[in-house]
Amino acid sequence: MRAAAPTNSVASSVASSLAPSIASSVASSLVGLLAYLLATLPAFLPASVLMSLALLATPAAQAFERSDGSIVGCEVERNGVRRIVQEVWLGKGAVGDRHPELGGAAAVVRTDAEGWPVIYFDNVVFGAMLARDPHMADFVFYHECAHATDPARDEVEANCEAYLQLEQLGLMNADMQEALARTHRRMLRLPARYGGSGEVFWERTQACVSKRHAEAAGRATVADAD
Ligand SMILES: [Zn+2]
Repeated sequence: MRAAAPTNSVASSVASSLAPSIASSVASSLVGLLAYLLATLPAFLPASVLMSLALLATPAAQAFERSDGSIVGCEVERNGVRRIVQEVWLGKGAVGDRHPELGGAAAVVRTDAEGWPVIYFDNVVFGAMLARDPHMADFVFYHECAHATDPARDEVEANCEAYLQLEQLGLMNADMQEALARTHRRMLRLPARYGGSGEVFWERTQACVSKRHAEAAGRATVADAD
């Protein structure tokens, strides 16, 4: 089953209200539900917007249900204190009931007043993704968690972490990899921080994964020699 995609005009208008500079690329590149990649805008929202986000949101949670049924949380550490990242789910799920603050994204990470990361999910975008490609939803969760655990990570690094995490969990195989690649390649144009296109974004993700695999193999070889 293929979930209905939001129209470009809706995406374009919500993106415009968020960040005019990326609106044109959103309008031309947004394919269905994949604008999550426009998430995690470098500038954090003003506190007043965050407060209104919080008021509109369903009660915050700290658990994410993965496609394999596991309930997981994103754990972060700041100055020796560990916490599960709060998740805020926005929107009731009706088509068109989307939150401009998310810029058409499925999920974004923002920082609360105390500096802790919060992951905001858009129920509409995310719900459709879950229906169409639950594995992609897992990938997005771990992508956002990678930003939350280390705000210095760029988009490729966050993707790379998400990939390695799914692999480690046994949630990656040839079919899943191909589905993720297809999903990324469908995004013809993306902002520069994603490499300019889904094709390049995925290529860079794969290059990072290969490098990390090689580093891990190198470490294993050194350990064997010891
Ligand atoms: Zn990101």
